[in-house]
Amino acid sequence: MPASPVFGKVLTLQQLTDAFARKFYYLRLSITDVCNFRCTYCLPDGYKPQGHNNKSFLSLNEIRRISRAFAHLGTEKVRLTGGEPSLRRDFSEIIAAVRENPQIRQLAVTTNGYRLARDVSTWRDAGLTGLNVSVDSLDPRQFYAITGQDKFREVMNGIDAAFTAGFSKVKVNTVLMRDVNHSSLQSFLNWIKDRPIQLRFIELMETGDGGSLFRKHHVSGEVIRAQLIQQGWQLLARSRSDGPAQVFTHPDYLGEIGLIMPYEKDFCASCNRLRVSALGNLHLCLFGDQGIPLRDLLAEDWQQQALMDRIQGGLGRKKQTHFLHQGNTGITQNLSFIGG
Ligand code: SAM
Ligand code: SF4
Repeated sequence: MPASPVFGKVLTLQQLTDAFARKFYYLRLSITDVCNFRCTYCLPDGYKPQGHNNKSFLSLNEIRRISRAFAHLGTEKVRLTGGEPSLRRDFSEIIAAVRENPQIRQLAVTTNGYRLARDVSTWRDAGLTGLNVSVDSLDPRQFYAITGQDKFREVMNGIDAAFTAGFSKVKVNTVLMRDVNHSSLQSFLNWIKDRPIQLRFIELMETGDGGSLFRKHHVSGEVIRAQLIQQGWQLLARSRSDGPAQVFTHPDYLGEIGLIMPYEKDFCASCNRLRVSALGNLHLCLFGDQGIPLRDLLAEDWQQQALMDRIQGGLGRKKQTHFLHQGNTGITQNLSFIGG
């Protein structure tokens, strides 16, 4: 067995940087592919195992080792995603394990919100610092039609519970879809007028499974941006570990609006994030290649240096942009597989 490095002596490598001088401060870590919702644009037929040959999802210790390696490589922010991450029974332990690294100052989760009302204060006590809740419609019937789950009220109660638990702001993700919610800006604005919610419209992205839905419902965030600017909303400056949203504020609103427009020119120029799938593969882009396997280096603590070297080395293969404009969605069949 190779000598075990003493953790205090493992040196921080240079900040993760790719061949285009982009620096990576942000890790999106998927902890399960499983989901209990059936969103029309993601898992319209519900979750089906993807022929993983019975490989299980990352264990708590594997998650601990991934977090530690990324923390030593300059990661400041981690987002837990999936699938539905809160389906993991050990979700609170996972939060605590990631927060063992003082370098990781921000730990967020993206969730469909169905467990929020019950568990959000436990998650906060365990060290969660941020929440993104997916809500595509403020109309309970439309919410049901999109998600396949009649849980609008529970999710709203969950958001209230998050504020009660002490979160000062909650982010809400809304996938923008033509003829579904793209003309509902005013009702979303009314909802955030007195609530500290950052509502983020995400342009529908084309996935391997979702080509026809994409052609039917894709609409550019430009539609929303033009309306916001016309109503006096102003664009905020980004900081280095921020996500990809363009954030707008307005003096009359407590809430904010974010726009995530992956089809916009230069979207990839500010890329600061990497992804690890629930099977332990490093994905350099949401719409990238097969992923770089890390799992063989997650079994023991003494493998940490090799793990860091593989992550750093793999980054050299990151391409300058995605190829969505050419209709090339990589291997991404749907976003539940490496987390949106
Ligand atoms: N289950 C959790 C949830 O829904 O919040 C986390 C995983 S989900 C894959 C992460 C985010 O990706 C969600 O906000 C979801 O709306 C978004 N998403 C999924 N498929 C998408 C697509 N084809 N285009 C744009 N956003 C998508
Ligand atoms: Fe599940 Fe999230 Fe995909 Fe909806 S978007 S099916 S909640 S993983």
